Amino acid sequence: MKVNIWNEKAETMSRDELHHVQSLRFKDMVWRIYHNVPFYRQALDEKGITPSDIKDIDDLKYMPFTTKTDLRDNYPKGLFAVPDKEVVRIHASSGTTGKPTVVGYTKNDLELWSEVGARSVMSAGVTQDSIVQNSLGYGLFTGGLGLHYAAEKVGAQVIPMGGGNTQKQIMMMKDFNSTVLIATPSYALHLADVMEEMGMGPDDIPLKTGVLGAEPWSEEMKIAIESKTGMQAINSYGMSELIGPCVAMECVHQTGMHIWEDHFVPQIIDPVTGELLEEGQTGELVVTAMTKECLPMLRYRTKDIASITTEKCSCGRTMARIKRLSGRTDDMMIIRGVNVFPSQIESIIFEVQGVEPYYQLVLSTANGMTALEVKVEVSPEYFNDDIRRLTSLREEIGNRIKTFIGISAKITLCEPKSLPRSEGKAVRVIDQRTIK
Ligand code: AMP
Ligand code: ZN
Repeated sequence: MKVNIWNEKAETMSRDELHHVQSLRFKDMVWRIYHNVPFYRQALDEKGITPSDIKDIDDLKYMPFTTKTDLRDNYPKGLFAVPDKEVVRIHASSGTTGKPTVVGYTKNDLELWSEVGARSVMSAGVTQDSIVQNSLGYGLFTGGLGLHYAAEKVGAQVIPMGGGNTQKQIMMMKDFNSTVLIATPSYALHLADVMEEMGMGPDDIPLKTGVLGAEPWSEEMKIAIESKTGMQAINSYGMSELIGPCVAMECVHQTGMHIWEDHFVPQIIDPVTGELLEEGQTGELVVTAMTKECLPMLRYRTKDIASITTEKCSCGRTMARIKRLSGRTDDMMIIRGVNVFPSQIESIIFEVQGVEPYYQLVLSTANGMTALEVKVEVSPEYFNDDIRRLTSLREEIGNRIKTFIGISAKITLCEPKSLPRSEGKAVRVIDQRTIK
């Protein structure tokens, strides 16, 4: 399969060349943060490190970590490394509790974002002939604007829809002949289901590619989205603190998301001890954003659980790949000693005949312990069935969860269309525990 590459020189450089580029950029970054950000100067001083100690990128492992708490403690702009007048854009993460996390960009940062954006969307299969419907939220959330400029940079035609208004999205998609949909996977699935209700199948819509991300999604979810829409569902990864979307993106061969390592250096650590893990091992993803001017990030702990490979990819890109994420350390539920991610429950729900992939996980406290309730929608054709069939459906889900994950859960079958639909990031877990 012939693939298009936006920046061949950067994306296909040898690993030796990459080491050299990373080393230069890393040394420059450490100098900048040491001199411009009191927080980093203190953190490096505590470790006895000065910028002149850095020889090459291999020294990254001696550096301190940065966390979301550090960003919060320095709210709003304490980690910015440039004077405020050089900042031309602000975004912020939603921050469900307390203050949001604020991120800033200089003009060069926006250039960089478009550059890694162009690499990303082209890797996903977007070209200047594409018509891109962007259904991610515009505004403080980085998703909408980040991918908007990415697609424009490669010369595609962009329709800035934003999230929601599903029927209109479908009308526009048909009328404007959108070939690419940018959305969260949960919204893409909802769109596909509404299309189905409107009597449309994959052949009635022009979509060829879905650029989907901003939340964890299972392989089973990908298969379902692809079969309902006929598009290739490409995995897209990013986070506000690192730049926004387009930190990493799958190529059309879909063997993991290429991370643009000449700007973002990935490491995998043991989330408990902080110890660096070997290539291929699963742990917490830590990323250093070396080249941003406003908000460089030193060893940022993403809390995302991932593994990395640098094996050659048949697309020709030499940049490492991040495997599909299983979830975040803070989404991990510990149920009677067993670690469970929502994506594991999702995989099971997709495999059971008779329920729809709309679910919610409710955590509560029972007898001093965490209990899990799985709420899932029954398929319309099963809903009016006799009690026996519904009971056996409930048992089947419970048994599968017991067998494959090793925990007991209460299964509640809900009416079709009764659980909330997501227009952005889906809320999967409702935590009602009195003891955490
Ligand atoms: P935000 O800063 O609001 O964009 O959220 C970033 C977080 O969204 C990441 O740290 C991940 O937990 C999650 N996320 C983004 N893209 C993906 C993806 N492709 N797969 C799984 N989780 C993702
Ligand atoms: Zn590839």
